[in-house]
Amino acid sequence: MIHFFWLRDDEAATSRYSGDFDAAHRWGLPGLKDCPGCGLTWSGSGRQYPAVDLSLIPEHREFEEPRPEPFHELVRLQELVRPLMPPNASLPPGTSFGPLTGTASGQFGPFTWQGTSLMLIRRDALDGLQAAGIRGLLGCKTELRFRQKTAPDILELQIEPRGLLHRDCLPPDLEPPCPTCGRQGFRRPDDPILDGASLPSDRDLFRLDNFSTMIIGTDRFKDAVEQGGWTGISFRELPVRS
Ligand SMILES: [Zn+2]
Repeated sequence: MIHFFWLRDDEAATSRYSGDFDAAHRWGLPGLKDCPGCGLTWSGSGRQYPAVDLSLIPEHREFEEPRPEPFHELVRLQELVRPLMPPNASLPPGTSFGPLTGTASGQFGPFTWQGTSLMLIRRDALDGLQAAGIRGLLGCKTELRFRQKTAPDILELQIEPRGLLHRDCLPPDLEPPCPTCGRQGFRRPDDPILDGASLPSDRDLFRLDNFSTMIIGTDRFKDAVEQGGWTGISFRELPVRS
């Protein structure tokens, strides 16, 4: 039986490294302004596709400036991006694309986090995990300008949404998602439970589709990280319910 773990920044470990960065993805979908279904203006977080290169479409400049847009404009921009996306990927407002661009400095550990939902990995750790047979790791180049002369080789993992929080750990009176924009608003539960039927069997690392700032790894991933001695991730096992 596979065990699943919620992955977060192990601050005791990452604080031992001086590595720091100030960066954002090059492109993004705008936020949604005044949804005609639910009336909300919102933008999501945790949907990052660093491997998706919007320079391949002539309209890429329309994705450079974060801003809210009306629903029809959001739909137009979603359709421009869709051909470049993995199959069946949803494209909520605020989805970001392309390399992480900005400045960086210092010594980077094997894993470095931005918040809870973006994980950078050092090249040697990625190579080691892939050599250990960990599945579904997609390392993407970053465009970080380092202040020091010898820049470390730092990649961002494209971690795609698969799997769901189980209904049992969500508020009992939760409204269904907005039929227009798909938003379903709830806070992260204190005691998350994973929905067994929704979990992927083809990869060892993913994020949750209904709470995309939560990154989940299998016991295979955890064991390989620990055997390699790569620090920077704290692991909390989550129960799985059918
Ligand atoms: Zn809506």
